[in-house]
Amino acid sequence: MSRVVRILFLCLMSRLVWTFPTGVWRQGLKRVLAATQMSEEVDPGKIAGLEIVKYPHPSLRRKSEVIPPEAFGEAHAIARRMLELMYEANGVGLAAPQVGISKRLMVFNPEGRKERWLDEVILVNPQVVETSSGRDTDVEGCLSFPGMQGDVERHKWIKVEALTPKGRKIKKKYEGYLARIFQHEYDHLEGVVYVDHLSKADRDEVQPVLDDLIQAYKGNDKAL
Ligand SMILES: [Zn+2]
Repeated sequence: MSRVVRILFLCLMSRLVWTFPTGVWRQGLKRVLAATQMSEEVDPGKIAGLEIVKYPHPSLRRKSEVIPPEAFGEAHAIARRMLELMYEANGVGLAAPQVGISKRLMVFNPEGRKERWLDEVILVNPQVVETSSGRDTDVEGCLSFPGMQGDVERHKWIKVEALTPKGRKIKKKYEGYLARIFQHEYDHLEGVVYVDHLSKADRDEVQPVLDDLIQAYKGNDKAL
């Protein structure tokens, strides 16, 4: 299937009503279906007391800590706030390091909409159990890297063990789009960002945007 057909197919699968503003259309379809954002990301600022940190914030480069059972209640509350922030930012996934919290916690919703709350996933201390040998490549974006996207190769499926915020153990096999979202968010817990996976050519292409983000970053603790 050609890329354009595949992307349109994914749009239909997501049951999204798409309108393509001319500006977005001009920039290509690629931009509107990056893996961790459903449409162009917006920076909603502080929502529910949380804010998305942007590259090169050091939190994006730290390996996150395991959450002890006594902190699960707090983790649940943070996850709820992360979901709220994620929806406001037009995202489909968010990891705790992206709100400056270096804990092994992620949230996602492939539907990217609050009304589809049944599709929300909160994972505490997720672990990768098994991965497919087969891989595929698709376009990704990240709320911590606004204004850019790129092709990333990921495992086609992945088996995962994690805990719910209530401490229940869950085992899941994620495939396709869900597998991609999970792998993207799991990378964040390891201090890895999707830009690390780009080809040399794609990396060169987005370097001006990265340079702008570095320039715009106010802290003295840049982590590239
Ligand atoms: Zn991300």
